[in-house]
Amino acid sequence: MTQFKFDEITAHLKQSGFIFQGSEIYGGLANTWDFGPLGINLKNNIKNLWWKEFIQKDPNNVGMQSAILMNPLVWKASGHLDTFSDPLMDCRNCKTRHRADKLIEEFDPSINAGAMDTKALQEYISEHKISCPNCGSHNFTDIRYFNLMFKTFQGVTEDSSNTIYLRPETAQGMFVNFKNIQRAYRKKIPFGIGQIGKAFRNEITPGNMIFRTREFEQMELQFFCKPGTDLEWYEIYKEKCMNFMLNLGIKQENLRFRDHDPDELSHYSVATVDIEYKFPWGWDEIWGIADRTDFDLTAHQTHSKVSMEILDPETNEKYIPYVIEPSVGVERLMLAVMCEAYDVEQLENDSRTVMHFKANVASTKATILPLSKKLGDQAFSIYTDLLEEFECDYDESGSIGKRYRRADAVGTPYCITVDFDTESDQSVTVRHRDTMQQERVKIEDIHSFIKSYL
Ligand SMILES: [Zn+2]
Repeated sequence: MTQFKFDEITAHLKQSGFIFQGSEIYGGLANTWDFGPLGINLKNNIKNLWWKEFIQKDPNNVGMQSAILMNPLVWKASGHLDTFSDPLMDCRNCKTRHRADKLIEEFDPSINAGAMDTKALQEYISEHKISCPNCGSHNFTDIRYFNLMFKTFQGVTEDSSNTIYLRPETAQGMFVNFKNIQRAYRKKIPFGIGQIGKAFRNEITPGNMIFRTREFEQMELQFFCKPGTDLEWYEIYKEKCMNFMLNLGIKQENLRFRDHDPDELSHYSVATVDIEYKFPWGWDEIWGIADRTDFDLTAHQTHSKVSMEILDPETNEKYIPYVIEPSVGVERLMLAVMCEAYDVEQLENDSRTVMHFKANVASTKATILPLSKKLGDQAFSIYTDLLEEFECDYDESGSIGKRYRRADAVGTPYCITVDFDTESDQSVTVRHRDTMQQERVKIEDIHSFIKSYL
C-alpha cells in the first residue's frame, strides 16, 4: 500500500471542504480547525456509531452529558489542579519555550522522561548538554510547571475566588454523577456511563493538524465493576474498541495494541493499553483503555464526603467499584479514518483522488446526477426524497466524468445518474465508487439499496 505524505492528505482535506483553518480570514488562530459540511457529517457519523455501539446497544451502559464548567473542587480531587502540568523551560537566547521531558525523549527515545522529577530532568539536560532545538544555545531557565487547564472566571469579578476551568477531560462528569445515576436508574454493578463532549488542554506543543489540538472532543466510557472482575472487563473493552475501529474501515495491519510499561503507568492504574494507528508520520495513539481501579471514586469520596460505596446484594458487603475507562478523541479517530481512506489511483489515461470511506462513515452516501439539465426536475425529486433518510448531494454542473471525480474525491460511495430512460423504465444507473462498476436500479428500490451497504 502506498504511504502518502501527511501534507498531501491535509491539503486535500482543506481543499475539498472537510476541514478549514479556524478564523482563516483573520490569518487564523494557531491550532484551531473548523469542520466544513463534509467534515461535520463524517464526525457526526463516527460519534453516532460510537453512541450506538457503546451506549444504545449495550444493555449495561447508559449515556449522560455533564457541564463543561465544573466546581473547581472536582479538579482538586481528581489531581488535575496539582499535577496536570508540563515541565517547561525557556531558552534565554532565542526566547522559545520547550518541554524538558520532550527534549530528553527526542535526544534518547528509550528514556521515559515523563517519570522523572524536576531535579532529574534538569540534571539530565545539563549532563548530556542538550541544546535548544531552535538556536543551539544551552542557556535555559530553570524548569517550571505549567498547568494544562484553561482558566476563566465565573461571574462579573475577575479575581482568584471566581477562577474556574474548562474541563480537561469528560471523565470526571461521569464520576461525580456515579451515585445520581446508580440511584435514579437502579443500576446494578457492573454498568457503564458514557458521554461525548468537548474538553480543553492548553498544550504547549499541539500539532499534526487535528491530531493534537487544545480544543477537542472526547468519547469516554467509565465502566464500573466489582474489584477482582476488572481485568476481565479490561480485556473485553480492549477487543470492543479494536473491533469498533475495524468497523470504521481501518485495516488490521495499520492498528496495534501497545501496553504501557510499568514505569509509564499512572500510579493508580494496574493496566493501560493504547490502540495505535500507523499515521503517515508513524505509529501514534488513538484510544486509551485503562484499569483505573477505585482511584477516582475514592478521591471524590474523600474530598466530597459523599459515600461512593455500593452494597453487594449477594454478599451484603460494601465496596467502591473499580473502573475500566476506554477513552478516545473524536478528531484523532476521524483523522485516522481519513488517512486510511485517502488514495490516488492511476487509471488508464488518468488518475483520480478517492476517499475509500466505508458507507457507514461516508459524509454523503450518494450524489444524484441528471445526465442533462432537462432531467433536473426528476433528479431533484429523487434527491429530496433520499434526503429524508441519508446525507446526499446533488450535482448538475460539468461532464458526468468530472462529476464522478468530484464525488470520488470526497468519498461518496454511490453516484446515481438520472438519464433519458429513467422516465420510461423508472430506473437509474448506480455507479460504485471503488469498482467504478455500474448497475441499473429501480427508483423505488434506491432506499433499500443504499441501506443494504450501511
Ligand atoms: Zn534557543
